[in-house]
Amino acid sequence: MGGKKPKVVIVGAGLAGLAAGRRLHYCAGDVLDVAVVEAGDRIGGRILTSEFAGAQLEIGATWIHGIDGSPIYEIARKAGALFPDEHAAAWERMDGFPSDPLTLAEGGLVIDHFLLDRVSAVFSNLKDLIVSGKTNDKIASVGEFLRHGFESYRAENRADWIEEAAFAMHECGERGYTAVDDLDSLDLSAEKEYREFPGEHITLPGGYSRVPEFLASALPAGTIRLRRKVSQVEWHPDGLAGGNPVRILYDDGEVEFADHAIITVSLGVLKSGVINGHGLCFTPPLPKAKIDAIRRIGFGLRLQGAARVVRRPGGGGAGEDG
Ligand SMILES: Cc1cc2nc3c(=O)[nH]c(=O)nc-3n(C[C@H](O)[C@H](O)[C@H](O)COP(=O)(O)OP(=O)(O)OC[C@H]3O[C@@H](n4cnc5c(N)ncnc54)[C@H](O)[C@@H]3O)c2cc1C
Repeated sequence: MGGKKPKVVIVGAGLAGLAAGRRLHYCAGDVLDVAVVEAGDRIGGRILTSEFAGAQLEIGATWIHGIDGSPIYEIARKAGALFPDEHAAAWERMDGFPSDPLTLAEGGLVIDHFLLDRVSAVFSNLKDLIVSGKTNDKIASVGEFLRHGFESYRAENRADWIEEAAFAMHECGERGYTAVDDLDSLDLSAEKEYREFPGEHITLPGGYSRVPEFLASALPAGTIRLRRKVSQVEWHPDGLAGGNPVRILYDDGEVEFADHAIITVSLGVLKSGVINGHGLCFTPPLPKAKIDAIRRIGFGLRLQGAARVVRRPGGGGAGEDG
């Protein structure tokens, strides 16, 4: 077979970019020319296993949230990240803790767990009402609805400061899980679409970085190019002046033509370029629906005002995922 192979440039060597590269290589490696270009000097993006004081430390993703049927778990298994060697510590679990966890407040005050369970039930019932849409109350904001619900509970049950602190712990946890700074800006309308794999939630004794490393190892040498920061993607389905539908401009001025581009940069990078005009931009601009989505979807969490009740050992709370 003669002729040049159609070229696909994948922007970003995080998990999404590497998975796309691997899939294309396996399915169409003989008919496509695939490249993965990465701005940084390493692969993995928001996955990075590091070391601190002799211990393994995850800087980014840490948990596989549910292992039964999870493709990440399958990759981690194949990559040898579950049982790296006979000395490796067993993985951590998010569940599987004792049924009677000890809960302490500041100063070592032991908190009655029945009280905490009651507050937890209040919080999850209120959240269920929002997610299921089964409330007749008008929901101006998630934060206000939760607070209002707790105030009613407080009035009916003469709740004390411990219950107030426990409720604040759940509010803080919700901010952590959903990565919003303020529950008033949280939209839970798509929450029902979220599916979690069943089974244990685990960390990886061999390090999460083994997952992107495993994906990358399947690609032919030279497919991944590091320190290649894309500043502009020109795209035109009918071909640009030079004949190719895609022209990629790098920040050092280099230009590369391609037939297709797959963009896997994070929402933050897209917001910065597409909305604020700093960084990666597209010519012509992306379709309006995409720009609207990039503008509308929010993220960002400053962990201030942390809850005062801590649950031990490990039974849920703010910031487990970072
Ligand atoms: C602190 C933290 C903890 C987390 N914990 C968990 C967890 O426990 N479990 C879990 O499932 N998930 C967790 N996540 C989320 C998970 O890490 C991400 O969902 C996942 O790694 C995203 O992969 P990605 O390929 O989509 O994006 P990224 O990993 O962001 O990859 C995008 C890549 O694009 C590159 N790039 C950006 N701009 C350019 C450009 N202009 N040109 C070329 N390259 C560019 C970036 O350098 C990056 O390498 C966590 C994330 C963080 C930050």
